[in-house]
Amino acid sequence: MSIVLETQGLSKSFGAIKAVSDVSFALHKGELLAMIGPNGAGKSTCFNMLMGQLKPTAGTVWLNGQDLAGLGPRQIWRMGVGRTFQITGTYASMTVAENVQMALISHHRRVFSILPYAHRLYRDRALDLLNLVGMADQADRHCAVLAYGDLKRLELAIALAHEPSLLLMDEPTAGMAPRERIALMQLTADIVRDRGVSVLFTEHDMDVVFAHAHRVMVLNRGQLIADGTVDQIRNDPRVQEVYLGG
Ligand code: ADP
Ligand code: MG
Repeated sequence: MSIVLETQGLSKSFGAIKAVSDVSFALHKGELLAMIGPNGAGKSTCFNMLMGQLKPTAGTVWLNGQDLAGLGPRQIWRMGVGRTFQITGTYASMTVAENVQMALISHHRRVFSILPYAHRLYRDRALDLLNLVGMADQADRHCAVLAYGDLKRLELAIALAHEPSLLLMDEPTAGMAPRERIALMQLTADIVRDRGVSVLFTEHDMDVVFAHAHRVMVLNRGQLIADGTVDQIRNDPRVQEVYLGG
């Protein structure tokens, strides 16, 4: 299996705080990889470094073999790294379909700069993506009236409009009801399976992680303390210690 994302010795300090310490891992193509750990473990700091939002204090990140050192968020996004945000980046005054169309137009303008503004084509593609995330029936509603869980699904459709090879999702289900959480992760797992997209995500709900992740990494106080299959992680005494507050 080919490696999509790899880190070696990734570290970030804020003054005296070692938020992330010497984290090394690899994410393979088509993998749904979870990063878990208690609050303050360093998960978001890791994600922010992977997205180019934060500069590592030490260590290297490779995307498909290319060193990301010195690259900013926009450059990394252009290399095919999609992401979803805790606060959605949708336009409230536009409809659901228009939001996806905007993303499609910006993506295709970039990739095929000569492609004309083919409104109809983008509408159809937007509907395909909305269908994929189970929102085709809401295509013509304004985003302002959407339920939170629907906004998150829309955000996923927008991310997919850019045809990412890797999706980074930091707490994609934050603020969602348990049933919505399960549905969003199921949807993400389907997308990984059907589209060959690789995903790195964080999630608080262990049941959701254990039900869907292919592999799980555990971060505690900035350090990677375990990396393995769901069964290995579930039975790892170090992980139990962290979660039982031992
Ligand atoms: P998690 O996402 O796992 O909850 P974070 O990566 O947000 O953890 O935080 C890890 C540690 O780094 C925490 O102790 C947090 O207070 C600290 N931290 C995160 N961002 C900053 C920052 N910008 N300045 C100072 N400390 C920070
Ligand atoms: Mg966080």
